[in-house]
Amino acid sequence: MKKIGVLTSGGDAPGMNAAIRSVVRSCIYYGVQPVAIHEGYKGLIENNLEEVNARSVANIINQGGTFLKSARCAEFRTPEGRAKAFENAKAAGLDGLVVIGGDGSFTGAMLIEKEHGLPCIGVPGTIDNDIFGTDFTIGYDTALNTAVEAIDKIRDTATSHNRLFLIEVMGRDAGFIALNSGIAAGAEEILIPEEDHSVEKLMDSLENSGRAGKTSSIVVVSEGEKIGGVVELGRAVEESFPEYEVKVTVLGHIQRGGKPTCSDRVLASRLGVAAVEKLREGLSGVMVGVRDQKIVTTPLEEAISKHNAIDDALLRVADIVTV
Ligand code: ATP
Repeated sequence: MKKIGVLTSGGDAPGMNAAIRSVVRSCIYYGVQPVAIHEGYKGLIENNLEEVNARSVANIINQGGTFLKSARCAEFRTPEGRAKAFENAKAAGLDGLVVIGGDGSFTGAMLIEKEHGLPCIGVPGTIDNDIFGTDFTIGYDTALNTAVEAIDKIRDTATSHNRLFLIEVMGRDAGFIALNSGIAAGAEEILIPEEDHSVEKLMDSLENSGRAGKTSSIVVVSEGEKIGGVVELGRAVEESFPEYEVKVTVLGHIQRGGKPTCSDRVLASRLGVAAVEKLREGLSGVMVGVRDQKIVTTPLEEAISKHNAIDDALLRVADIVTV
């Protein structure tokens, strides 16, 4: 294997830079020429490729975002777009490709491999932690810590008044950020898409906490919660509990930014090395991940189609500590 390409695709996540750095330095370590592809699949189609060296990725391990930039590229969804991308990969002499991104990016990787035989390895980079085949995705730990820090600050103002804060956190259809940040920030209630009847539970709990003499509350709501939106929920709560002043906060993109945590940097470094090593071993069409602290591989098809379940034991902890 003489040349390996690396790109970041889909939503950006803190720690992607550490993953790129690790892929580039692993290539150098094994005597392979690393090729950086700017702007994800768009860059591959537009031939925005650059041979890089170990110094090209100096001083980026501590930076959020992705210095290669990410992109959503509609053209790559078409067979013609992927054929164009492959022609450029071939012309550049790429023997393999490392794709850092989420399930959409992995679908693209799977297709270019199936249609053109370009060996591809996926590295899970998304704050949502919603990818099957790994306990943690790159960016998740940083996003969690950002959410906890923000919720802590909101609690200071909530406790200074009779306020009830509904705080929406990211996570798409998965409740990992909501459940973990809710537990860590001491939320009174946590609403996640994986649990049914959460709104009824919230109303019951507010009723009970009112009786228990609580005058302020923090409720963490996952963006994937099927309740018709956190603003709508705020209105419903205000109608039922006029004694509370209800405030709604959507944390939004703040959760995607910032310096990656130590955990994310180490995870990204481990997965970057693993991706290059697996390509060199002749593996392809798989995602590298970490399960029980060990590096594992999962076929991209499985990583895309399956979902990590929320841990029942953690849900029980949330139920106990939010009383
Ligand atoms: P995130 O989870 O952060 O959103 P993602 O990788 O799922 O990341 P997407 O926007 O779904 O983000 O996908 C990124 C890119 O991957 C798309 O812009 C497109 O170029 C490619 N892609 C996504 N789905 C497909 C598909 N079905 N076929 C081919 N390419 C795809």
